[in-house]
Amino acid sequence: MYDQPIQIQRLNPPWCRNIHCEVLRLDQIHPVVSGNKWFKLRYYLADAKASGCSTIATFGGAWSNHLVATAFACREAGLRSLGIVRGEAPAALSSTLRDAMAYGMELVFVSRTRFHQKDEIKNGFGQEYFWVDEGGYGIRGMEGAAGILDLVPENNYSHIICACGTGTTLAGLVQASAQWQHCVGITVLKGHTSLAAEVNRLVVETNKQNRFTVVHDYHFGGYAKHPPELLEWMNDLWRQTGLPTDIVYTGKLLFAVKDLIQKQFFDSGDKLLIIHSGGLQGNRSLPEGTLEFS
Ligand SMILES: *Cc1c(COP(=O)(O)O)cnc(C)c1O
Repeated sequence: MYDQPIQIQRLNPPWCRNIHCEVLRLDQIHPVVSGNKWFKLRYYLADAKASGCSTIATFGGAWSNHLVATAFACREAGLRSLGIVRGEAPAALSSTLRDAMAYGMELVFVSRTRFHQKDEIKNGFGQEYFWVDEGGYGIRGMEGAAGILDLVPENNYSHIICACGTGTTLAGLVQASAQWQHCVGITVLKGHTSLAAEVNRLVVETNKQNRFTVVHDYHFGGYAKHPPELLEWMNDLWRQTGLPTDIVYTGKLLFAVKDLIQKQFFDSGDKLLIIHSGGLQGNRSLPEGTLEFS
């Protein structure tokens, strides 16, 4: 999907202090398709093709990066796609769902209650679909995410940091990193206490399990919650560094990096690789003009 080398951006505003910060700009892979989603989906698509399935089916909300990425990736791979969307069909579709449809995804809306009964939904659709879990959680997703570090020519970072939803991306980074490196996941869900266990379940090399830290302090009230303090920070960061972030994942990730540096979570001279996992398309849910970039 991308022919340019992925940019690694040095960040050097005053809050970085004596910590060397670099950002892997997966957001630049595609304006709508989240960088990490693209990696997580690769092997699911390959498996679907190998098993002779022509349609990938998966789940998501109205602003889901995962749904639109699945729609796009399937089109590129010559597969059909079906999206099960949480909530009744609205009068006007979100830009995300419009994009997903434009990429050829068929959408089926289900009530919030029904949405959580995933097995029943799957059974109702029958055998010809290849189901991918919400957010691409699973071993194959982890294996795909492990490929993210192949983009980094000189991986000499003491820490690799990413935002976490399902933790699949973090698991891939743990799997692909060296023994002396430490991975840090910033969860964007409130009270997601099972996340570390869910990550460990995907890290197949047992000697690499637990070689990461999950930080729970930067969800800003919960999934997709974006208080004014977060939006202000995202605009500040943009002015300071030219780095655009999204309200669900990467704005919170970068805030966490800044705050953890201030709290001396890292040691002087540490070198951080911050994974910008994309997600910028979700900012379209905000009223126009909220952010100074888009
Ligand atoms: C989905 C997503 C994540 C979370 O990835 P997980 O592998 O589910 O933890 C992070 N950042 C962005 C931009 C995403 O779209």
